[in-house]
Amino acid sequence: MKYIFVTGGVVSSLGKGLAAAALGTLLERRGLRVAFQKLDPYLNVDPGTMNPLEHGEVYVLADGAETDLDLGHYERFTDSLLTRANNVTSGQVYETVLSKERRGDYLGETVQVIPHITDEIKERILFFEKTSSADILITEIGGTTGDIEGLPFLEAIRQFILQVGPQNAILMHVTLVPFIKAAGELKTKPTQQSVAKLREIGLQPQVLLCRTEQPLEREVREKLSLFCNIPVDAVMEARDVEHSIYEYPLLLQEEGLDEKICHLFGIHAPAAQMSQWRSMVQTIVTPTHHLKIALIAKYELQDAYKSIYESLTHAGGFNDCGVSIEVVDAEEIEHNGAEKYLLHVSGILVPGGFGDRGAEGKIKATQYAREHQLPYFGLCLGMQIATIEFARHVCHLEHANSTEFDPVTPHPVIALLEEQKKVLDKGASMRLGSWPARLREGTLAHRMYGCHEIAERHRHRFEFNNDYRQQLEALGLVISGTSLDGQLVEIIEIPHHPWFLAVQFHPEFQSKPHAPHPLFTGFLQACKKASQR
Ligand code: GLN
Repeated sequence: MKYIFVTGGVVSSLGKGLAAAALGTLLERRGLRVAFQKLDPYLNVDPGTMNPLEHGEVYVLADGAETDLDLGHYERFTDSLLTRANNVTSGQVYETVLSKERRGDYLGETVQVIPHITDEIKERILFFEKTSSADILITEIGGTTGDIEGLPFLEAIRQFILQVGPQNAILMHVTLVPFIKAAGELKTKPTQQSVAKLREIGLQPQVLLCRTEQPLEREVREKLSLFCNIPVDAVMEARDVEHSIYEYPLLLQEEGLDEKICHLFGIHAPAAQMSQWRSMVQTIVTPTHHLKIALIAKYELQDAYKSIYESLTHAGGFNDCGVSIEVVDAEEIEHNGAEKYLLHVSGILVPGGFGDRGAEGKIKATQYAREHQLPYFGLCLGMQIATIEFARHVCHLEHANSTEFDPVTPHPVIALLEEQKKVLDKGASMRLGSWPARLREGTLAHRMYGCHEIAERHRHRFEFNNDYRQQLEALGLVISGTSLDGQLVEIIEIPHHPWFLAVQFHPEFQSKPHAPHPLFTGFLQACKKASQR
């Protein structure tokens, strides 16, 4: 196995994850098998307990791992299959080492960062050598060089490269080369310093990927080459993409990144076949139609809903329409009513979420969509909200609610299952990961999916309360998908409406640019129709 380590310098949010994913696209299209790993230096065992404003979306894998959103990029850009082994945090590493220490596994040794923590990190990188058939493992290290908490990871990588030999491992450093307007120049100093930080601890990057707004001219490349000790043909430009992140692999191919990597590894693989990818990008960036979709949200931060944005982009490409997402603050709707914000949109999407802040606003938005025949798509919390709205306003169950928002509601239409009531730890204790569901013949869901059984990823604690099933169904709510034993409600819909569907799971984790999710494409198709009304 060959190893590529991706580090970041100068600032965070450089798009290391995207760079790793886009490189993966190119290598896969050369016929190589690629695996990915993200090492996150924070002490949380996983991001599941973090506020989305801190961290962005929690991306859920099929096996139920709650992971960093970069894993979403890896899955969307490539065919690699990810499991919980693909996201390692300092928290996990320390947890393992400390429980080994308690068991007495270290036989009286003093347990230290070097070698015990670094050994555990190397073990987790080597895991892929033993278990995967990939040709190349791309390991991204979270954070920025110079962070104290990242040091054990960088040290482990130094040792690892020594172990497997430099011919089998490449360090690619992603950095920022800022343009200073007053000087009219690109500045290389921050990059020089961040590479110096790496060299201080014995790491020499072989490839420099420079994020820049301006073309990286020859002299700038030569300067970077000289000061960073990297051959000039390995100093690469990663210009900001113009329209879509899916252009990124094409830019990197033009720059020769995958060619360089193969050359350094001595791998002979044919040039990446990118024609299909190119035409997919073309459909995304040159749509004929435009749609405005309202996302009834609690967080302004786009990263908090990353996979939803991407899924709408994929489905937009499929439907030949560009989608502008209007983030509407649920609390604003609470205060000012829904109409002001929703009158001019073609569809409404209520995403997942936790806690009661904004819940009443989301209910109002849902009522507006149901009553005004506006396409509605509810995801996870969105399905729970739609259930509450239907119970209150169609079934006249006054004060119906989820026990998450009102523990003493007279009508707990959304509630905890018995097994969840016993849960004390917040971490990794929700209903997580891929679960099969059966679809009811003749329903919208069945038509959209075109099959009887599906598997979708979950991340929630609360469920549709079966005590209210008959009552809601009697007044027209259609339960179109359930768990295989019929006990858990997975999809609800409202007939005699252009498109009103809500799901207890997260379809946004299974959409890819070249394989958009059928519920997202169906939703946008309905929105397109609504916009032409
Ligand atoms: N808060 C809800 C629950 O825990 C919904 C979760 C979500 O939307 N991911 O069930």
